[in-house]
Amino acid sequence: MENKVLIINTGGTIGMVGKPLRPATNWLEIAKEHPVLEKFPTDYYQFEHLIDSSDATPEFWIKLVEVIEENYDKYLGFVILHGTDTMAYTGSLLSFLLKNLAKPVVLTGAQTPMIFPRSDGLQNLINSIYIAGNKLYDIPVVPEVCICFRDCLLRANRSKKTDSNNYYGFSSPNYNPLAEIGADIKIIKDRILPIPTEKFYVEKIINPNVLLIELFPGLNPNYIRDFVINNPEIKALILKTYGSGNTPTSVEFIDMLKEISNKNIPILDITQCVSGSVKMPLYESTDKLVKLGIINGSDITSEAGITKMMYLLGKGYDIERIRKEFSVSISGEQFA
Ligand code: ASP
Repeated sequence: MENKVLIINTGGTIGMVGKPLRPATNWLEIAKEHPVLEKFPTDYYQFEHLIDSSDATPEFWIKLVEVIEENYDKYLGFVILHGTDTMAYTGSLLSFLLKNLAKPVVLTGAQTPMIFPRSDGLQNLINSIYIAGNKLYDIPVVPEVCICFRDCLLRANRSKKTDSNNYYGFSSPNYNPLAEIGADIKIIKDRILPIPTEKFYVEKIINPNVLLIELFPGLNPNYIRDFVINNPEIKALILKTYGSGNTPTSVEFIDMLKEISNKNIPILDITQCVSGSVKMPLYESTDKLVKLGIINGSDITSEAGITKMMYLLGKGYDIERIRKEFSVSISGEQFA
């Protein structure tokens, strides 16, 4: 293994260059603006088509996993340059697909391109290289998929993009940061996952046929029923419910859930609150949901809930197994 970090550029604002802005064609084009970058022991891999992360797809995710798989033994860690918009989805999914991960996989990006004098990109990238390069900088190994953004190191499957402008663009409302990044980088060891002893491998299975609906007063339950029942390719429904997991208690709403549930479609209940957790059964509403077999999403983010469901469906699990998997944490994504 080389004592190096692999930077994988998938696209996003951070690596844009030129006027008008366009994706860089190679690492030199990015690094020449910032000679300091040449000092770091890194190799560089660039996706053939750099994307705006709003164009992320299951195929894109599989390709990313393959790049890590092919290079896993060669590097101390990985830095993924990625657009901020869907970074939390990519990070969450990677945390389910990279099994027995014993090295840091650090996603980073920027609110403005690195070529801008006030850009946040350079600092985000250098912090990420330090964390991925761990022993080169006397930093403990973080054996996790994480997001490094503006002095914050967050577990990716606990993170959300919560600001489209502020340099503190990400937060992790239900799990404390994995490190304090200031003059020193201090990894908080009791917040990181243990280093696995089993061999690393990847899973390349995603079934994206899930639907997420956020509840609001006045939502007609027939819309949900018609949409799900008329689209048999939908294999799971995720409801972003109120507060501690509450939904309307009307006969129409509960009957709609019953009908969908009877088709063996898993229904996952996650809260639309930014922090906190679904609690079942707390109110009459959630009591009804428990009786219907609705799955308790605990304190999972919607990004992790969606991608965990895609992963579990991809594995071909039935509804009982999916329920079981949502009662445990696969890679630190939920309280269990
Ligand atoms: N739309 C861009 C993206 O997610 C924004 C960014 O790069 O931060 O790719």
